[in-house]
Amino acid sequence: MSKRTKKVGPAGWMGPRYGLRIRRRVIDIDRAREKPAACPRCSTVTLHRVASGVFECSRCRTRYASNAYVFQAPPPITRTEKGEAAGNA
Ligand SMILES: [Zn+2]
Repeated sequence: MSKRTKKVGPAGWMGPRYGLRIRRRVIDIDRAREKPAACPRCSTVTLHRVASGVFECSRCRTRYASNAYVFQAPPPITRTEKGEAAGNA
């Protein structure tokens, strides 16, 4: 038996459709999605995707909202003094 999805891996369900470039993007997202990310609270690499945009740490049980497929740590909270113009990054 020949291995049907040797080249395309997780994008094998797409068959010959949609073009190679799009299928490669799907492969990248699919592989990155499975990897656990670092938890911003307890800093262990135990953050898993439970739903689209929802990630949960299996150690401290904290849930985060992030990107649909791959977790992106939220930006650090910065305080600005009152009266200071907002939005000056
Ligand atoms: Zn955690």
